[in-house]
Amino acid sequence: MAGAWYLLLVTTKNETLIIEMPWPQLHINPSHRFEKMKKKYMVVRRMCQVLFLVTTLLIGIRFYQFTVPLEQGMIQDIQRPPGVEAFLPISALVSLKYFVLTHGINKIHPSGVLIFLFVVLTAVLVKKSFCAWVCPIGFMSELLTHLHFRIFKKAVTLPPLLDFVLRGLKYCLLAFFLFTILYKMSPKALEQFIFSSYNIVADIKMLKFFTEISMTALVSILVLVVLSIIIRYFWCRYLCPYGALLGALSFLSPFKVRRDPITCTNCKRCDRACPCSILISKKNTIVSDECFACGKCVDACPETNTLFISLPKKKFKLSPWAVAGMVILVFLGGSFLARRAGLWHNQVSNTVYLGAMLENNLIDIKGVKDMDTFVNNLDNLDNRGQRLLMMKMMQERKK
Ligand code: SF4
Ligand code: SF4
Ligand code: SF4
Repeated sequence: MAGAWYLLLVTTKNETLIIEMPWPQLHINPSHRFEKMKKKYMVVRRMCQVLFLVTTLLIGIRFYQFTVPLEQGMIQDIQRPPGVEAFLPISALVSLKYFVLTHGINKIHPSGVLIFLFVVLTAVLVKKSFCAWVCPIGFMSELLTHLHFRIFKKAVTLPPLLDFVLRGLKYCLLAFFLFTILYKMSPKALEQFIFSSYNIVADIKMLKFFTEISMTALVSILVLVVLSIIIRYFWCRYLCPYGALLGALSFLSPFKVRRDPITCTNCKRCDRACPCSILISKKNTIVSDECFACGKCVDACPETNTLFISLPKKKFKLSPWAVAGMVILVFLGGSFLARRAGLWHNQVSNTVYLGAMLENNLIDIKGVKDMDTFVNNLDNLDNRGQRLLMMKMMQERKK
């Protein structure tokens, strides 16, 4: 309709005027707008985050379905989702040292150590992309920043010195875990931990942490949520040892946010957009352990080809789709290869699970509906301690 004309009737007290007006030229080209939108990191990243969040929820539901019958002493034909081991980073670190020492992936939580390696790989490839593109906690923290802006109207940051000191906390926690596990644990201690009944049911304990949450845990989570509203990304920025590890490894990443000083107009929009308070407009290459390749600065830059995520010398600029593809490929491709190699699923029989759950007080013997099936299921227990425990619990049930 561009170029067309229409008539405007203007009625005053005495007369009616007819004015010819040009049709407003809105310059809307739907395909062009869609092209622009496609380039936005925010849109693609959100899709990626939702994809991983849904996957996490499905894994959680499946694991719940696997655990409930076991708690009632039943064995059902529900396969345990190996992805649940993503939530056992301590166990994964222990398994990693065991893997380095023995060249074998343990059969208790094999996917845990592999997922840990996938996460590490994403950091070595594209900064802390795991945090901004995959991690559900990072996603939740980001959603809480919207509340921050609603309440405070602008970004509230801590004084630089306090911020710097607090950021050190996550590195202290990381150092503690690395020292305790990688340095202090002997090969024997590693083996004892990996094959302990505690480690076998660590995933079930983790599930129960949420399904039967204690008051202390609930209050702690609420405090962290409130702190994350007041100070953006409180947990991620100051306390998460996983994030600290990824931040340290991200220095190796060849892909970094880079600025072209020739076309940059120094408008500082990128600085204001950065959730990590990095002063992008002052550097040509962002070398920071905090950058999680979210692309918010790139989205905010009004100049073409001025700010981008690329290899040195502006080579191979990454589009948002390329970052998403890279991250998804690491997880999907990695798990596919691990499946093919028979390294994805653990080798813990349901009977062993039942025995380990018994030992860790995860079975409410009074809640067991079919006692005969339960006893039959445990008939094969070769752990004398577990058999004695079972007999004791059954006697208590009879009282
Ligand atoms: S810092 Fe930790 S919790 Fe936050 S997004 Fe990264 S890995 Fe997840
Ligand atoms: S520098 Fe850019 S990509 Fe990195 S965290 Fe800040 S806004 Fe995100
Ligand atoms: S937003 Fe773009 S143009 Fe503005 S200061 Fe940052 S890099 Fe330069």
